Amino acid sequence: MVYVHVPFCRSFCTYCDFYSEIACREKDAQATKDWLRSLLSEISSRRTEIEATSDTNTLYIGGGTPSVLPLDVLRRIVEALGQKQYDEFTVEVNPEDIIEKGPEYLAGLRDLGVDRISVGVQSLDDGILRWMGRRHDAERARNALRMLRDAGFESISADVIFGINGLSLRMLEGTVEELVGMGIQHLSAYQLSIEEGSALAGMIEDGRYTEASDEECRAQYELICDILRVRGFRHYEISNWALPGREAVHNSAYWKRLPYVGLGPGAHSLSIVDGVQRRSWNSQQLSGWTSESETLSLEEIREERLMLGLRTAEGIDGKRIEEKDFFIADSIIRDLI
Ligand code: SF4
Repeated sequence: MVYVHVPFCRSFCTYCDFYSEIACREKDAQATKDWLRSLLSEISSRRTEIEATSDTNTLYIGGGTPSVLPLDVLRRIVEALGQKQYDEFTVEVNPEDIIEKGPEYLAGLRDLGVDRISVGVQSLDDGILRWMGRRHDAERARNALRMLRDAGFESISADVIFGINGLSLRMLEGTVEELVGMGIQHLSAYQLSIEEGSALAGMIEDGRYTEASDEECRAQYELICDILRVRGFRHYEISNWALPGREAVHNSAYWKRLPYVGLGPGAHSLSIVDGVQRRSWNSQQLSGWTSESETLSLEEIREERLMLGLRTAEGIDGKRIEEKDFFIADSIIRDLI
């Protein structure tokens, strides 16, 4: 189970604090080369770890914006990883890249073995998209979704953001209904959060933006839940809905706390060897990143199991609550029960 972080975006969105650099134009080709060289060297030095996580045979290329990368760069990464076929191979894309690169690019992704696409739609309202600083408008997002469908992708997920001051229930309903009508199989909806260092945090500080109230956020979230339930989607994780059988295998493994290898700047990993659990993370720099790690204490493991388990529809097994090696049998869990 491998995650690759692509740290490039064509521009920065208002709300985002992910590690990314503005790059990948021709003049920035050197940046891509430097990043790729470091990534290939990390793949080769972590080969044993990568093979040890192959029980969950998934690859997820995320970012940043992986779709800014030329196909031959993606091919070199896939070849270096050495796996012939994955149970699920996801690439995150932005609509404008799909439009600019066209059907040939999509055919190239399929040739590489990509069978799941996660599209950063965020909204189908042009005013909201402009406010977010996205590079696409609603029409380009619609066209990109059509192109993905025409290219034969059968597992398409769309990202949507809610909890925005100025986003009406009517606009949100229009976005979700239209996405479902266009045949997506999966939807991830994230509530806008104010991340330190993002442009949005600055806008709040100098009074250019006021956060939506908890009541507005709740009404928007409940609207998404209602629409997707009626349309046959299963709400399998707090931010994720899927048609039956289209749940994300890779992300589900994170919530089950299975081991994974994160490659590239800023990526995190979890290893479990002989019962010892270690988390490691790469520094956020374009090339030559370094890694730090820590051994997780029993208490940290229990807390993560509790937190991640409660995010999913499966929840946590109430019978195991009192077990010594499972959850914290203290006042917190008793209060929750
Ligand atoms: S939201 Fe996506 S495209 Fe926008 S800056 Fe963040 S990583 Fe880049």
